[in-house]
Amino acid sequence: MGNIIQAVCPCGLESEEILQGIGFGYFTNGIRTEPAYCDTCGIVIGRDICKSISKCPTCRRKVKFYVEDAKESKAEDQPCLATDDYLQHKEHWHCPRCKKETLAFESFGLWD
Ligand SMILES: [Zn+2]
Ligand SMILES: [Zn+2]
Repeated sequence: MGNIIQAVCPCGLESEEILQGIGFGYFTNGIRTEPAYCDTCGIVIGRDICKSISKCPTCRRKVKFYVEDAKESKAEDQPCLATDDYLQHKEHWHCPRCKKETLAFESFGLWD
């Protein structure tokens, strides 16, 4: 039902393991976790993309989802309906810590 991923960057940024995708409770609580970042704190975290506003746990600002950065994504209006494979569209992503496009997502496999 999802991927276990971690964001890593040569600058030293390493995120927690993020359970990307929909979980056991999806059909009851509608939670769908996707990676997001906070430019203020320089962290990458997994957040529920179906919520209208997801806040950074540290500074309480709104986080930005990587799916919003995916060029070919047409999901901007409805990120909740984004496909799971957008992370494969680009090799490198914005790093909130060093502010370069050098962040990569490593996959640890599938979960269900
Ligand atoms: Zn923050
Ligand atoms: Zn970096």
